Amino acid sequence: MRYLIGALCVAIPVAAYVAAAPRDTRTRAERTVTVAPSADRQAEAPAATEATIDGDGSITIPVAGIRVDQLHDNFNDARTGHVHGALDIMAPRGTPVVAAVDGTIHKLFTSGAGGLTIYEYDQAEQKIYYYAHLDSYAAGIGEGLRVTRGTVIGYVGTTGNAPPGSPHLHFAIMLMAPQKEWWKGTAIDPYPLLRDHGVTIAESR
Ligand SMILES: [Zn+2]
Repeated sequence: MRYLIGALCVAIPVAAYVAAAPRDTRTRAERTVTVAPSADRQAEAPAATEATIDGDGSITIPVAGIRVDQLHDNFNDARTGHVHGALDIMAPRGTPVVAAVDGTIHKLFTSGAGGLTIYEYDQAEQKIYYYAHLDSYAAGIGEGLRVTRGTVIGYVGTTGNAPPGSPHLHFAIMLMAPQKEWWKGTAIDPYPLLRDHGVTIAESR
């Protein structure tokens, strides 16, 4: 499976590569997909009372049940016209995607390559956490919503250009530009952070 990873995302529009703010003409109701109510239970994450990576130095692995030893660095893999600039985390379709840090859902955006995506700002508004290829958003997720680490924000899928047979989360961390625009930032490699400081959140059944 790991040998497939390099070919997964052909051209994910990581915010850093987008020259101008894309427009999303859909209403929030169209963007938000309601899912089973039981999926909300993981909002009470055991790590919710801990500080974010900017505080105590740890970070929640953003796919429920995934351990550090299941991650493989593909930040520098070649993609069409650029390097990947993100971490692909393989997981079965429908696996909960959780907030990596405390923060605010800043933007729900649909793009051709990323599919259903979420841009989360951390509390200090220094970094953007980007989650892509979601199968759906979690119920109640909307722009402006404050979330804590481990809050379920969506579900693993293949929307955008992910191969239908290889569901995964495309996860990126961007350092914000001074203007704090959600589509602009400098990508940093999530892998070393998760390898050294990642906390696994249990997937409740
Ligand atoms: Zn990717």
